[in-house]
Order: sequence, then structure tokens, then C-alpha cells
Amino acid sequence: MKTPLKDIRRHPASFIPLSVPNISRKAWKYVEDCLSSGWVSSVGKYVTRFEQDLTATVGGGHAVATINGTAALHIGLLVAGVQPEDEVLMPTLTFVASANAARYCGAYPIFVDVDPKTFVMDVSKTKTFLEEQCAVHQSHLINKSTGRIVRAIMPVHFLGHPVDMDPLMELADRYKLAVVEDACESLGSAYKGRPTGRLGHVGCFSFNGNKIVTTGGGGMIVTNNKAWADRARYLTTQAKDDPKEYIHGAVGYNYRLTNIQAALGCAQLEVLPKFLKAKTLITSRYNETFKNEESVQAPIPSLWAKTNGWLYTFVLREKKRGQANQLISFLESKKIEARKLFRPMHMMPIYRQDGSALQEAERLYESAVSLPSSTNLTQREQGYVISCVKEWLDA
Ligand SMILES: *Cc1c(COP(=O)(O)O)cnc(C)c1O
Repeated sequence: MKTPLKDIRRHPASFIPLSVPNISRKAWKYVEDCLSSGWVSSVGKYVTRFEQDLTATVGGGHAVATINGTAALHIGLLVAGVQPEDEVLMPTLTFVASANAARYCGAYPIFVDVDPKTFVMDVSKTKTFLEEQCAVHQSHLINKSTGRIVRAIMPVHFLGHPVDMDPLMELADRYKLAVVEDACESLGSAYKGRPTGRLGHVGCFSFNGNKIVTTGGGGMIVTNNKAWADRARYLTTQAKDDPKEYIHGAVGYNYRLTNIQAALGCAQLEVLPKFLKAKTLITSRYNETFKNEESVQAPIPSLWAKTNGWLYTFVLREKKRGQANQLISFLESKKIEARKLFRPMHMMPIYRQDGSALQEAERLYESAVSLPSSTNLTQREQGYVISCVKEWLDA
């Protein structure tokens, strides 16, 4: 099994990317079928099939395909009842699309810190915020410092690791908050055996190019609530009341996925189990090496978590603490793409918020590094990545 180190120290032929699509032969067949049938746009058998296949993958619900994950989050929040001037609680460590989706609704994101072990929304800090910073007034939960209604929570299963959803749903029940899961990075992950994206009131997925399953660009809304799914379908297709008379009953959106993209998605979903296996293998090879490195904290998934291993990410510590940028530049010089975490939302001018209660996210941002995790990463390439990381750690 083990390739001798001197063998893999040689430079692979080309650049090793962070996470790239892995397109199967079936995809060509399905896409060709679309192209030759002329059904290329947002109506067609593959859109319906992709929605059905996704619900089969995540264990039920009503699914509505969208043009991308961001659109799914926007419509997910709308159907869950988020209104202008409301607030949506979410982790500060996420991709900007989560916060933007709240703003598209005219609502405001409020940021919560993350758990330093799993990088996801800290539910006990969420609880403290709700109990100490908010008050119930005329059956609404009000943020005492802004006077706005807290309407929803958006847990993000960041890097594929599920949020601790049971206590989060208890809080949501207690305060009557809607829960819209940002499951954009977590297709294939599960919480206590239950798939992410199916744990809140609405789940949103992304099929962007770097996600575990891709349609080029695409997204999906999944919910058990039939009326919400119908509303989502209506809003994502320009809110058409009468297609012949062109009567539109609301300000809708042109957010539907095309048949070509859905065809690609159907082929990708067929190989998801294979992708998950590949990611598990990649994760265990990295862990095997890094668990004994003093200046690295390998990921520590929660006991109840099954993660999809989307992007292998470790944290630099001891003498290498805070040096994410240095490692990334070093790897770049070795033709390896590595990445920092997203900049925490509260550290960006558009979403500036007091960071004194968001310190774990700030610390991770300086010290966490994601390594190449493509499902088609070869053992040889991974060996090269590992030897380069070790070279930097030992320097
Ligand atoms: C990718 C991603 C999104 C947005 O998905 P797109 O399909 O790129 O619009 C939202 N949230 C998170 C956490 C993501 O990683």
C-alpha cells in the first residue's frame, strides 16, 4: 500500500488543485441526450429526475432545483418567513453567500462564534445569545440591542461537518424560529445517522464547481413542507400565475436550474458513494500523517458526525500558530493549491460586527489551512502534498 517517500518526493507533472470536478462518462451521455433532444432549458426530464434523485440521496422531502446554492438560500429564507428588517442568526465562519441571502430578503445576519474543534456554529453560544441578548415581546423574539425580530437560524455544516442539530432545533422550537440549513458543503454528511439538509425546516445545497457533486453551477432547496416547496417552485420560476396570459402574482426570480445542468447532476449523484469513499481515504491518509505532528491539530469530528470530507482542513499550532498564509505561499511555490478559511463575516466591512465574542473564528482564520482534497487526487499526488507540508513544518 505505502509508496516509498523518495518516490513521491518527485514533483508531479503539474499543479495540484484544491478541489476540482470529477466528471464520469455517464455525464457525457446524459448531457448529449439533452443537447440532441433540444431540451436544454429549465424544463425537462433531467430537472425533475435530479430533484427526485437528490431526495432519494438525502432521504425524502420535496426538492426544488435552483440556479445555484446562493439562490437556494435566498428562497429558503423567504419561504421560511424571513421578512425585511428581521434578523437571521448564523456562524461568522461561513461563505459570504449565507449572509448575503439574509440581505437579499432585506433581513440582517447576526453572527455567532464557532466551535474550535469542528469549526461549525457553537450551539451553546447560540443559546446564550438567545437567552441573554434577546427577549420575547408580543410573541416575537426581539434582539434587545437592535430592537429587531430574530426570525430564523441558519446553521452551516461548514466543510462538511454537521452542526449539533438536536439542541439547536430545541432552541428553535422554544423560540419559534425557522431553521434554514446551509448544507451547501455537506451533501453526504450525516448527524446521528440523519443526512444534513434534512434536519431543519429547510435545507439548501450547492452544486458549484468545487463542491463534492457539481452541475457546473446549481443548487437545491429541500423541505418536508409541501406548501413551502410549492412556494419555492413558484418564486424561482418568475411567480407565474398564468403562463399564457403572462400574469405574475409576486416579484419572482429567474432561479431555475437548466436541464443541461441537471443532466450533469444526475450523473454526479450516481457516483456520490464513490466520491465519499475517496474523500474518506484522503482524510485518513492526511490524518495518519498529521496526528503525530506537534505543530498541527488534525480535525476532531464530533462522535455523532459523519462528514463528507469535502475539504481536509487542519489547524497550525505551537510554533506554527497563526502562520496559515506562510504555509499557503510555501505550497504555492511547490505548485500545490492550499487555502485559508473564508474570512469571518464580522471582519468584513459590509458585515462588520463586534468581534469580542467571536474569537474562536478569528483564531481559526489565522491558523487553519485546507489541503488538496479532490476526489481524483492520486495517492502519489497526496504523498507529494504531505511531504511538502512536512518539509515546511520541520523547517
Ligand atoms: C458554496 C457555498 C454557498 C453558495 O453556493 P453557490 O452554489 O456557489 O451559490 C453557500 N454557502 C456555503 C457555506 C458554501 O460553501
